[in-house]
Amino acid sequence: MRSGRHFLQIPGPTNTPERILRAMHRSVIDHRGPEFAELGLGLLRDLKPVFQTEGRVVIYPASGTGAWEAALVNVLQPGDQVLMYETGQFSTLWKNMATKLGYDPIFIAGDWRRGVDANLIADALAKDTDHKIKAVCVVHNDTATGITSDIGAVRVAIDGAAHPALMMVDTISSLGSIDFKTDAWGVDVVVAGSQKGLMLPPGLSFNAISEKAWAACQAGGDRRSYWDWRDMMTPNDAGYFPYTPATTLLYGLREALDMLAGEGLEQVFARHERHASATRAAVESWGLEILAVNPDERSNSLTAVLMPDGQGGDALRAEILDGFDMSLGTGLNKVADKIFRIGHLGDFNDLMLMGTLSGVEMGMIRAGVPHQSGGAQSALKYLADHRI
Ligand SMILES: *Cc1c(COP(=O)(O)O)cnc(C)c1O
Repeated sequence: MRSGRHFLQIPGPTNTPERILRAMHRSVIDHRGPEFAELGLGLLRDLKPVFQTEGRVVIYPASGTGAWEAALVNVLQPGDQVLMYETGQFSTLWKNMATKLGYDPIFIAGDWRRGVDANLIADALAKDTDHKIKAVCVVHNDTATGITSDIGAVRVAIDGAAHPALMMVDTISSLGSIDFKTDAWGVDVVVAGSQKGLMLPPGLSFNAISEKAWAACQAGGDRRSYWDWRDMMTPNDAGYFPYTPATTLLYGLREALDMLAGEGLEQVFARHERHASATRAAVESWGLEILAVNPDERSNSLTAVLMPDGQGGDALRAEILDGFDMSLGTGLNKVADKIFRIGHLGDFNDLMLMGTLSGVEMGMIRAGVPHQSGGAQSALKYLADHRI
């Protein structure tokens, strides 16, 4: 028995607000009945402003990985080349999926400390004079490394090369927390999930689809059934889905969209930016290093902190879980045990952040991790000096 509240400060799943929990605490309804149509139509309409698109958004009862697969199989033909970019574990997993599904990814290597260099994308596209590359796939916010890439610059690179490739972007840990402009950046397929910025439990994922991607889907695409956008369109137009939707999660999504609209997207982004800045101030005061080298690529939804030499991130995380009932994100793959990740996205406020950073600082004391004291104090000062 542990008294008090658990701190779930991994970068997704994030804390589910009471309002959303209560909204989901309802019986399911007939998903072919009139009451459902109203829910479905409202959701499909109100998701658009969150994606900043006028285009279609589809909803899958699946984790984010499902929407990755949907993005690929709806527009690519077997064997198609795709240009992908290594920003961390999530871009690596998407690339591995493309290989498994029989596509031919060109993976621009990265060092997990920097975001997408749009010049390298421009170079690769310029070399592809016979337009073998059918899509450029990047992760907006790589959750494994806490690195946010400049998606507008990728658009400029594709346009600069006058290349017809589609642009697909994973926004699973940025949608609803870091500004993402689907239409303004000309993104053809957006991939998103429910359990991060959207504050829901895991289980829903999304594709936003441009006209160009829709045309590619209709003209070709791969073998597909569950993920087929074409099967979604007619039922969606009436507020329904081609198979049983995750009705309970959709109740939660209704509440989440109302919460985001109520706060205002701009305010949501500013809140995340402020909490991220306060976290970075704490890390700097501790004398520790942030994994993201470039200050303008440091994520506003999570911070990946490098452990001092000879210290394991997982031992620190275990100490913090044991001592203070707080879960922090682990280091994945190339940065396993070398970092820990602080999630500061979703339903979050100043005191939750201060509890989180205090837990990290107390954990470092307990675990004997060398650091300078006063990090939490610096965050506190940052928050006090930067009132919303
Ligand atoms: C969480 C995450 C995923 C994986 O999503 P699942 O819901 O676990 O399938 C993919 N990409 C990014 C950027 C993520 O943060």
